[in-house]
Order: sequence, then C-alpha cells, then structure tokens
Amino acid sequence: MLLGVIADDLTGATDVALMLAREGMRVIQTVGVPTSSTHFPDADAVVVAMKSRTNPPKEAVEWSLTACDALLDAGAQQILFKYCSTFDSTNKGNIGPVIDALMHRLGAPYTIACPAFPANGRSVFQGHLFVGATLLSDSPMKDHPLTPMNDSNLVHVLQPQTALHVGLVPFATVEGGPDSVREAFEILSKNGPAIGVADAVTNDHLRVLGKAFSGQKLLTGGSGIAIGLADNFRRAGLLGKNSGAATFVAPIGHSAILAGSCSAATRAQIADAQAKGIECFAIDPIALAENRLSASSILEWAAPRLGKKPVLVYSTAEPDIVRAIQERYGRDEAGAMVEHLLGDVAIGLVELGITRLVVAGGETSGAVVSALGISMLEIGPEIDPGVPWTLAADGRSLALALKSGNFGAVDFFMKSLEML
Ligand code: ADP
Repeated sequence: MLLGVIADDLTGATDVALMLAREGMRVIQTVGVPTSSTHFPDADAVVVAMKSRTNPPKEAVEWSLTACDALLDAGAQQILFKYCSTFDSTNKGNIGPVIDALMHRLGAPYTIACPAFPANGRSVFQGHLFVGATLLSDSPMKDHPLTPMNDSNLVHVLQPQTALHVGLVPFATVEGGPDSVREAFEILSKNGPAIGVADAVTNDHLRVLGKAFSGQKLLTGGSGIAIGLADNFRRAGLLGKNSGAATFVAPIGHSAILAGSCSAATRAQIADAQAKGIECFAIDPIALAENRLSASSILEWAAPRLGKKPVLVYSTAEPDIVRAIQERYGRDEAGAMVEHLLGDVAIGLVELGITRLVVAGGETSGAVVSALGISMLEIGPEIDPGVPWTLAADGRSLALALKSGNFGAVDFFMKSLEML
C-alpha cells in the first residue's frame, strides 16, 4: 500500500477513491473503520470511509487515529485526510482537531489544507473558497442544517478549530511551482507545526501542490488534492503504469437490481428499465408490515426469472405514497423495515447465483452491504459521475454498483449492466 486515505463520509470516500483509480491506482474502499488486525487485500491505495463529519470531535479524532494506525501498519507511506470540498465544519471541528491529531501522530512539521476541486466548481483564491462564481458564504452552504458556512476565508474558518498556526500559501506561490510551495510551507512552520491553506483554481495548481508534498507524511483536502499523488509514486518507481481500474474483471453470472431510494432520479430509472422489458417486483410496505410479504416470497418470484436479463426489485414509490406509509408506521421504522427486507433479498439473490448487483439508495446500499457482510470494496470503472462498479474484496464473486438515490442518468440500470 502506498497511500492511505481517511475520508469523513461515505460518498466523499467513493469520490476520492474514483479520483485515485482514474489516476491509475488500484484502490480498495473499506466500509467502516479498520483496526490494526484488519487484513487488506493488495492495493495501491486504501480509502477508509467513516461517518465522522458531524460527530463529536473526540469521536472523529479517535476513529481517524485508529484508521491511521491501521493504514500505517499495512504499509501506507502517506496519509490523506479527505473532507468535503465545501469545508463542512464548525468552530469546534472536525477538520481542525483531526488534522492536529494526525500531524501529531505522523510527526508532520506542516500540512496543507486545500478543498479545491475545480471540476466541481470549487476553487480557493487568496484563501477564500468559491462555489462556482459565488463565495462559499453566499452559497447554499450558508444555510446547511449542521455545518452552516458563514465565512469564506478558510484561514479564519480553520484557525479557531486548532491550536496550531494557520497561514496562507497564496496563488502566486502556487504558480511558482512545487519548490516555491515547499519553501512557503517551511517558512510557515519555522516556529512550530503549522497548517497552510493553499490556493488552487485549476487542476494544474492541484498537481503542483501534490508534487510539493511528494514524500510528506500528511496531506488534507477535498478529492481534488489527490489528483497529483499517483504521479508522485509513479515518479518514484513505486507504481506501475498499468495498474488501477483497468484490472477490473466482473464475475460471470446473473444480475439483479434492488431499489430502495424514492428519489426522482431513481423513479425515472425504474420507469426506464420497465419500458425496456425488465421484470419487476414492487414491494408493498403494507403487505410487509402485515406479514403478507417476505424475502422468501420475493426470491420465489425471482428464481425462475434469472437469466440473460436482470430482475428488478423495488420499494420505490411516489412521495404521497411514501408519506402515507411513514404516517402509518413512522418514518424511521418504515425505512428500517424496507432496508431489512432488501438486505435479506440480497442475501437470497446471491445464494441463487447473482454475481452482479446494482443497488439504488444510500441507506439502502449500506443495508445491503452490511447484510452481505462486506467490509471492503475494490473500486472499478466509473458508470456515471460519482458511481463506480466495485468488487467485494473478500474473494467472493460479486460486483456491486452502489448508487446514492439522485445519482446517475435515466438509463443508469441498463447502462451499468451493459458495461460488464
Ligand atoms: P436515497 O439515496 O434516495 O436517500 P436511501 O436508500 O438513502 O435513498 O433512503 C431511502 C429510505 O426510504 C430507505 O430507508 C428506504 O428503506 C425507505 N423506503 C424505501 N421505500 C419506501 C416506501 N415505499 N415507503 C417508505 N419508506 C421507504
């Protein structure tokens, strides 16, 4: 393992994993925090997906250090702490406290903080974060329910979160190239460990920053900061030219689609699959609650239908129907009931010989992955922006496409399976 990444949420983890795969690394993503006894399969990079963005800072720090130790034990030469490209945090954390703890653990004299991700419209100029052409503090992030961002100056945002000195590595320095960046960080940390908020408006800037941090133990930022890291290892002769997502080989077998998302995108994707003649089973939550429907009845329906085409099982419904179910059974209870069922259906489908599974819905994907007992996924090729094919990285023959509800084009289901 060359690079260990600690990501503060699941979709952010997939995002950075895809970035590294695109840059030619073989990437494994863990589901949850690994420990020092975790055995990682062969990979150039391991991305640990935590759910720590808005947890108490103490918890975020503990999980991050546990993940860091596990990654170091497995041979990681460099650690990247990945947070959101809108720098989601409060005065209490969690970005500052986690950076402090990781710097201390890794003995890093300085580190970078750069959430820039130009491809997604996030840029940093004179320390100010822009979302498109709008300052962060004028963007919808100002009204975020958990982490409202009311100041665009990241030096100001980060300083109250840490006892370390926070400074700026401005645009002109980054334009000067990797040596000028390195010199700026050395000056910044002359009187003790320091964090530099670095400007980046283009991918070239991110590559300069990545190169300046070649051989350093710690970087922090959004997915963008990962863009130059594979090249560092390649230049050092540690990474082959042809590793990465190209090695993805999907197992032979039947395919199925499970949808628990009720988002507009997923509803349209189901309609598209139906129009293309895919056989569908619609879950009726009332029948489920009244014990008139179970995983085994769905599996009995599916078994004779497995063949060249996938089968589609969905609980997806229009908003007024979902509201009625939620009023009757409670929002969380109805959600858990459907998630549990889809988890059991996934187990049964795999027993029936399904080796290619598409899942729609963030929580639903979590429920399916945990029902199947999967703790690590190898990242494969990208289907639609932000959604890769993955392989269960525990030796079993199972390819999974895990899609957050609103992701993917209208033909996502068929397109993803045709890709294999
Ligand atoms: P998304 O990514 O679109 O947010 P999730 O899977 O994260 O999708 O969340 C959808 C939630 O809605 C899940 O908890 C799921 O079990 C629940 N759900 C799915 N279908 C229904 C339904 N017909 N009625 C009520 N809740 C449902």
